Amino acid sequence: MPHDITPIRAERDVVVPLRRRRGRDADGVLDAIIVGGGTIGLACAWRAARRGLRVRVLERDAPGAGATGVAAGMLAPVGEAKWGEEALVRIALASARDWSGFAAELERDSGLESGYEPRGALHVALDRDESEALRRRFELMASLDLGVEWLRPRGCRTLEPGLSPSVAAGVHLPGEATVDPRLLVPALMAAVEGSGGEVLVETEVVDALFEGERIAGVVTADGREHRSERVVLATGAWSGTAGWLPAPARPPVRPVKGQLVVLRGNPEHTVSTRIITTERVYLVPRLDGRLIVGATVEERGFDLQVTAGGVHELLREAYRTLPDVAELELVETLAGLRPGTPDNVPLIGPGAVDGLLLATGHYRNGILLTPVTAEVIATMLAGDPTPPEAHLAHPGRLGADSSPGLVAAPTGGRVTT
Ligand code: FAD
Repeated sequence: MPHDITPIRAERDVVVPLRRRRGRDADGVLDAIIVGGGTIGLACAWRAARRGLRVRVLERDAPGAGATGVAAGMLAPVGEAKWGEEALVRIALASARDWSGFAAELERDSGLESGYEPRGALHVALDRDESEALRRRFELMASLDLGVEWLRPRGCRTLEPGLSPSVAAGVHLPGEATVDPRLLVPALMAAVEGSGGEVLVETEVVDALFEGERIAGVVTADGREHRSERVVLATGAWSGTAGWLPAPARPPVRPVKGQLVVLRGNPEHTVSTRIITTERVYLVPRLDGRLIVGATVEERGFDLQVTAGGVHELLREAYRTLPDVAELELVETLAGLRPGTPDNVPLIGPGAVDGLLLATGHYRNGILLTPVTAEVIATMLAGDPTPPEAHLAHPGRLGADSSPGLVAAPTGGRVTT
């Protein structure tokens, strides 16, 4: 595997602008309906509304009820990547760079805290095998110029005195950050509404409206028709089973279960100040004294049961890393469904049906990838030039093998939506 990321030529997708003048609602037709009120749907709506588009988010439950509300919220562009995932790393790095500006704008537009905390992270190895694996990851991180530092055991314990005495090595990533979804979701909702968009809760989409071959809106469970120029699919793990879309338009997204444990201690004396990760567990401190311990990765369909085995494994590894967790209060156990794709890269761009845009498949990185996804979708909806990263996540890359209706990825030039 290469140790550096081969540069990919930046191509700017150009989309055909909306057929109507932006912002008009003469016949009750919106510019965009966004199905799904997780971090992705809400952020796409906010960025589109900020461009003057008329948008409505339809969420069948409460905003954040899906994977978003469960996420640990690490912004770890390299920490979560594997060798060979160059496209994912590139798009993740772009989004990580955007996060602080995105958070500042969100706080301005919403008047609420965004939950963004640039704490830095320490990736540690607890024995010699883990140390060798960490060294290989360090080489990838160093090649990306992330300002990382290799630390010996003493260096690790100087930064984080609560670490186990058996810590063998560490990598310090001062630039990594976290976002608390419990703050992010209300802030995004307020920002959507403050920018002129709407968020309808307990409003499930059950059918699609078509004008010829083109999707022209959706129908919700209460029988109401919502007409729009475009429909954005942002239903996370449920995107692949969206029965309201014709079968060829359902993208290849599957649920990947993750369990988490939430502990709580004294916010003045936390067991760590940074995000701590090992090969098997991560520990994410929050300002209010909570410590998020995550996460399992399980292929179990739509199962959301928290299991004794999952919790045991997480607590065992947390204790092995930071022994003082034994003294913390166990406050919550959670399970969520990550939207997985065949190559772990999200699907952002034109769907298989005219008028449909996909903003889904963010797997383990949906919080991290929120700014870049929202920017790509908002520019596509507005008919503006898309950011250079857009083609990395173009749905057409998966081709007809994965989803019969998806058109090939562009090699540049125009993309119609
Ligand atoms: P979701 O948040 O799942 O939202 C989809 C929404 O669509 C849901 O609210 C659902 O109710 C709604 N919906 C579905 N069908 C319909 C319908 N027919 N009509 C209306 N609404 C509908 N990512 C990170 O970046 N960092 C992390 O540290 C991190 N940790 C994670 C830990 C765990 C345990 C899990 C499970 C995930 C984690 N993730 C993390 C991944 C992240 O949570 C997801 O990638 C992200 O939340 C996906 O957001 P989304 O908006 O696409 O989906």
